[in-house]
Amino acid sequence: MSAPSDASEAAGRIRELCRHFHLPTVASEVEPRFAAAGQAAALPTLAEVLEMEAEDRRARRVTRLRYASKLPPGKTEATFDPTRLPPKLQHQLGELASGAFLERSANVLAFGLPGTGKTHAMAALGHRLIEAGHAVYFTPAYRLVQELLAAKRDLALPRALRKLDQFEILILDDLGYVQQDPAEADVLFTLLAERYERRSLVITSNLVFSQWDQIFRNPLATAAAIDRIVHHSVILEFDVPSYRTEAAQRRSENARAVAGERSLPRPEEPVDSTNLKSKRKNEPKTHPKDGEVRNRKK
Ligand code: ADP
Ligand code: MG
Repeated sequence: MSAPSDASEAAGRIRELCRHFHLPTVASEVEPRFAAAGQAAALPTLAEVLEMEAEDRRARRVTRLRYASKLPPGKTEATFDPTRLPPKLQHQLGELASGAFLERSANVLAFGLPGTGKTHAMAALGHRLIEAGHAVYFTPAYRLVQELLAAKRDLALPRALRKLDQFEILILDDLGYVQQDPAEADVLFTLLAERYERRSLVITSNLVFSQWDQIFRNPLATAAAIDRIVHHSVILEFDVPSYRTEAAQRRSENARAVAGERSLPRPEEPVDSTNLKSKRKNEPKTHPKDGEVRNRKK
């Protein structure tokens, strides 16, 4: 932000920033003291320095949040291709990126078959919200359940839950893979109840609600869990082909095309990515778009 040139405008901004830094005395004393000393002209410079402090603090906070989040580092918007998702889903993801759902403590549920991009899309959302200063925690669901179980055995479950409460957004990845015994289902249920209507949960799952009795076993507990989660929620349906399968198909199609371009017939070579990469080195870039997607995927 550019520094305000006018002294009284600068004084207003200095008060605001000092309050933000928890410096109430400085906030109220700076303007009158500078004026009494005939130094009012220096206020815009002071405002400028405080703006620099604010920006540095913001950047340090984002770095800290990113580290604490355990988000997979490469799964960001920059490496995600939203155009392979249906327009409705693209629109929903755009809305979520604004972070407005956090004010309602709404939940986000991403459903779809394996490989459809649920984890990547939700991790990218997490990264985006961290940039905006929100605290996010990403964890595979099975791991969190194991940690909570261990905490419960040590009579430290309330403390473990309080720790999670520091995060505005908890991303539970792959809920369907949790093999639930009653104790596991129980801590998971406690976690859901604990966050209900206070903090947002983001869940990815290969199981649609009708299969959630596999998670909670008991139909009553399942109904109660679904009821809580769905009450304020955005449901995302990843109704697209698997990205992995498509990428593998593209690789083998390219390999066939490359083989077809050769003038002399050669024995079949196995198609794998290492093989393709070495071929690609000497190859003119005839499929730049395809190469782009593959590079982004790394
Ligand atoms: P899911 O969680 O639905 O099983 P993932 O998010 O793990 O799927 O996606 C599988 C792989 O495909 C990951 O390596 C991911 O980065 C990649 N992928 C999926 N969808 C996209 C996309 N739209 N753009 C770029 N990469 C994608
Ligand atoms: Mg996944």
